[in-house]
Order: sequence, then structure tokens, then C-alpha cells
Amino acid sequence: MHTSDTPAPLEGGCLCGALRYRLRRVQSAYWCHCSMCQRISGSSALPWATVARGDFDVTHGALTTYASSAGVQRGFCGSCGSPILFDMASEAAVDVTIGTLDLPDRLTPTHHIWTTTALAMSDGLGPGLPRHAAEAPADPA
Ligand SMILES: [Zn+2]
Ligand SMILES: [Zn+2]
Repeated sequence: MHTSDTPAPLEGGCLCGALRYRLRRVQSAYWCHCSMCQRISGSSALPWATVARGDFDVTHGALTTYASSAGVQRGFCGSCGSPILFDMASEAAVDVTIGTLDLPDRLTPTHHIWTTTALAMSDGLGPGLPRHAAEAPADPA
């Protein structure tokens, strides 16, 4: 599936419903196996959707943020703790957790990143997709 063909907007929210958001257009979708995503999600890997910063809107409630690295804010629901957003100040795009979308199956991850820290239990995730040891190579301009 080509994520650029994704009908927009996509809507999602946290477990308790205090926080709702809307995505206007998704640029890409991928699995992250980094140790920080494992820790923040409590899962073996986390699927993310990348959207332009201006294409992500909180429509109800407000994100609580945590600075997980220099220049990186992770946004979550302050009531139920659902992880929602990865926001690196130096980037023009942000990442949103696919699992918090109302219809997560409308997106299909196309690659894996940070596979150097992938867990054995994640072997069956997204078989056949390109695997990158760290970050994905930059898109050709
Ligand atoms: Zn919540
Ligand atoms: Zn990660």
C-alpha cells in the first residue's frame, strides 16, 4: 500500500478518551525497535506514522510531554499514559503511534528501523520489509 494514497484525515486518541487528535496526511509508516520505544510502550516494537508538523492537530485535551533526549519531546496522555507523539525539534515532521489511531489498519508500515535492538520475539513483525540498523536513509529529495 502507498501511504501517500491514504484517505485523510485519520483520527485517533488515547485509551481514556481525554486526548483526541487528527492527522491530515501521512508521509510514511514504519516499525521502530529502539530501546526507548520499547520502554515507553511496554511492547517489543512500536509502529509509527510520520506526518508534517502542521498535519498533526490535537482536537481534544492536551498532550503531556517528556524530554526523552536532547531536543526530543515525547507526548502522551497525562491521564491514562497512552504514548501518542514523538517530536524532534530539528525535524519538519513528527511521528504518531499507529496503535492509537481509531482505524490502525488503514496504515501499513513499509520498513523497520533500529533493528540492532530488535527483540527475538519481534521476528514475525512485518516480514519481508527493509530493515535498517539505525535510522532509515533520508528520502531522496
Ligand atoms: Zn488518556
Ligand atoms: Zn524508537
